[in-house]
Amino acid sequence: MADHYEVLGVSREATPDEIKKAYRRLARELHPDVNPGEDASERFKLVTHAYDVLSDPEQRQRYDLGGDGSPFGGGAGGFGGFGDVFEAFFGGGGSRGGRPRSRRERGQDALVRVTLDLGDVVFGAHRDVEVDTAVLCETCQGSCCQPGTQPVTCDICHGSGNVQRTVRSLLGNVVTSQPCTTCQGYGTTIPYPCGTCAGQGRVRARRTVSVDIPAGVETGLRLQLPGSGEVGPAGGPNGDLYLEVTVTPHEVFSRDGDDVLATLEVSMPDAILGTETTIEALDGPVDLEIRPGVQAGDVLTIKGRGITPLRGGQRGDLRVGVHVVTPTRLDAKQRALIEDFAKKTKAPAPRLAEFHQGLFSKLRDRFRNG
Ligand SMILES: [Zn+2]
Ligand SMILES: [Zn+2]
Repeated sequence: MADHYEVLGVSREATPDEIKKAYRRLARELHPDVNPGEDASERFKLVTHAYDVLSDPEQRQRYDLGGDGSPFGGGAGGFGGFGDVFEAFFGGGGSRGGRPRSRRERGQDALVRVTLDLGDVVFGAHRDVEVDTAVLCETCQGSCCQPGTQPVTCDICHGSGNVQRTVRSLLGNVVTSQPCTTCQGYGTTIPYPCGTCAGQGRVRARRTVSVDIPAGVETGLRLQLPGSGEVGPAGGPNGDLYLEVTVTPHEVFSRDGDDVLATLEVSMPDAILGTETTIEALDGPVDLEIRPGVQAGDVLTIKGRGITPLRGGQRGDLRVGVHVVTPTRLDAKQRALIEDFAKKTKAPAPRLAEFHQGLFSKLRDRFRNG
């Protein structure tokens, strides 16, 4: 039986790198794609097997000690996977063959919806939200095993997570590596799965997450809470939690950027004579002075009583559009008074003036459109 070192043409002291280089050189020469001859095919198998043994430190040591005499003996290696050939031709780096995959994976993101009113938006709000996701299993702490037990190396793939299968193809026999079905590619099996989580390392649970929602949010905005989502399989890292905000429409107040809008109904006498009043804004009372002769459509701006911007900075304003309410039902005496007033003030007849889309009408349009 040919010596593996001789087959590859390297010394017994060859470094892993020298072994790899020797294999690449020979594979380029002997691979059935390049060299269809019967002899080449046989030599290719020998070369690949020699490389399989000598490139694995454990197998190489066993071989040096006299084990593994057979060219295609069983054991972990089998003979070269497709990956090896590919690597030989294209010079892929890294380790050869597949690695077992980890049971631990990142958990999924979770989404919860929160509903706020405009008052919450002015300053921000605190919410305790219920989140229904997978959480770490307390019994096994994500190990998936009954306490006191451990995963064991898979008998079928010997811990590699992969099994090699020979497939007949146009290129001849090609060995492919596929995930081991016994261990699902993990390389280990769990003889005594944790009873609490059925060996998943996590269980579903409802928990409460306390969230500070910043001021200035708006409907549709998603706040990301990194690491507050679902725990991953086998205690893998948590996904993120997203909070999707819905701001319910307010009866009185509306929003325009960081400003808050409302309409102030002022009676005709108050509009004429002026008055003082106190209105209840979203964040408490505001004293307002209505000057004598205020016009319908005038806007009173109360600085700094709007919304705190999401990105910080100065609060917006509260803008109040004046709506003068014309009396609709007058008794005879009131009617006489108004007629007398009109005569004495020589109120002008209705007349055309330059059209202007006042701020107030814009406000009203915006209110109407939602
Ligand atoms: Zn468990
Ligand atoms: Zn396996």
